[in-house]
Amino acid sequence: MSARAPYVSTRGGVAPASFSEVALEGLAADGGLYVPAHIPEVTAQELGAWRYLEYPALCRAVLAKFIADIDAKTLSRLIDTTYTATRFGSSEITPLSMLTDRLGILHLSNGPTLAFKDIAMQWLGALFEHLLGASGKRLNILGATSGDTGSAALSAMANKARIRVFMLSPYGKMSPFQAAQMYSVDSDNCINLALRGVFDEAQDIVKEINRDAAFKADYAIGTVNSINWARLVAQVVYYFKGYFAATTSNVERVSFCVPSGNFGNLYAGHLARRMGLPVAKLVCATNENDVLHEFFQTGRYRPRAASGVLATSSPSMDISRASNFERLIFDLHDGDAAAVSRDWSLLAEHGEFSVSAEGRRRVAEDFGFVSGASTHLERIEAIRYAHRHFGVFLDPHTAAAFAVAKRVAQATPMIVLETAQPTKFEATLGEALGFVPPRPARFEGLEGRAQHVSVIDASTSAVRAEIVRRCSECPIRGA
Ligand SMILES: *Cc1c(COP(=O)(O)O)cnc(C)c1O
Repeated sequence: MSARAPYVSTRGGVAPASFSEVALEGLAADGGLYVPAHIPEVTAQELGAWRYLEYPALCRAVLAKFIADIDAKTLSRLIDTTYTATRFGSSEITPLSMLTDRLGILHLSNGPTLAFKDIAMQWLGALFEHLLGASGKRLNILGATSGDTGSAALSAMANKARIRVFMLSPYGKMSPFQAAQMYSVDSDNCINLALRGVFDEAQDIVKEINRDAAFKADYAIGTVNSINWARLVAQVVYYFKGYFAATTSNVERVSFCVPSGNFGNLYAGHLARRMGLPVAKLVCATNENDVLHEFFQTGRYRPRAASGVLATSSPSMDISRASNFERLIFDLHDGDAAAVSRDWSLLAEHGEFSVSAEGRRRVAEDFGFVSGASTHLERIEAIRYAHRHFGVFLDPHTAAAFAVAKRVAQATPMIVLETAQPTKFEATLGEALGFVPPRPARFEGLEGRAQHVSVIDASTSAVRAEIVRRCSECPIRGA
């Protein structure tokens, strides 16, 4: 990989950029997403050696494939201080439990905020601190959350010098635990803005503000959403880890079933597979908001209007326009940015686009995608089943994947990715089981803590005004 310019935009309208530039910039100025000009490959020899690595060493090996402009010593320091047993509950970081010899759960949610978002976000916090410290720059992070990104981001960025976080959340659309967890963060660099609207509107506002190049530059706007490439690379690691834990040799294959919303998690799995990890199928599991499922079934991508997004018992997946989907389409077009731009013009004009029959074949056969949607009742049933038969508690997102995994039985073992701890969704667990699983002591009384949040309209101008006001009142610490 060339050190100077390995990343390009999916829309082809900006100059190539380095990993560090891409991490700080987030969304490309042409409205596209940054992707590597070439997806790196893993040789059979590397794969053989990687099997025996501990999580931090495996992380270094994977990330080195994507990062050419941070020296090895610094990269090791950032990774070693991030992925610790203290922070993630065990030195395995992402332990695997096999429920049967055909079905496993990869535990991704043992980090500080009990959601898999911690894995990428804790790394992003360390990375930002390093990059900003080295360059003397500062950053106003503008993020949108459907529930878990917000907490994970605030936990990773609270009290960090040179960083301020503006986190947009859909007011009243998250679980009480999720809302309390995020709004109770008391750090003067963390600003919660609850919008009277849904997640897609929040995400659109983030994108619109990012498209205003002058404003973005004036206020040093960055992002922690999975449109930020730096997050995705950290998620590639646990696919390797999960694969090695489930197999004894690299001739075996496994499939992964992933509860999907913004398609970041599953896209990381796609990257791992394209790099050469022996993955059979990548199963996209949705809830009732089934835009991605519809795409994998029909080749037609037809996001719903904000008013058509349902509030479900798996709120972190209540998303209609999955940002990272554009990265998949870029890959499907073999890196042809003009073709991606054409699809997104169709989307703007007609509200949908379709891929060709050959495109559908490649998505299914060459990329290995399978999909399924779940209903509330199926998730409730999955939670009951997993508890009754295996004694495990599933949160309603992991339950969505569990329900779909059972339906799309494959020739290879299936690994369901656990994306959150059930304690974050007590109402649904109570509905399914008649009782709620015990809550970790540090979250006792969470809902009773003081909350720090402003409720505002779901409009770009309202959010922009908040950014301007807060920045004029108080410059970022250390700036
Ligand atoms: C964010 C989230 C998802 C969706 O992940 P994407 O990467 O956006 O597809 C699923 N489950 C939980 C619990 C989440 O927090």
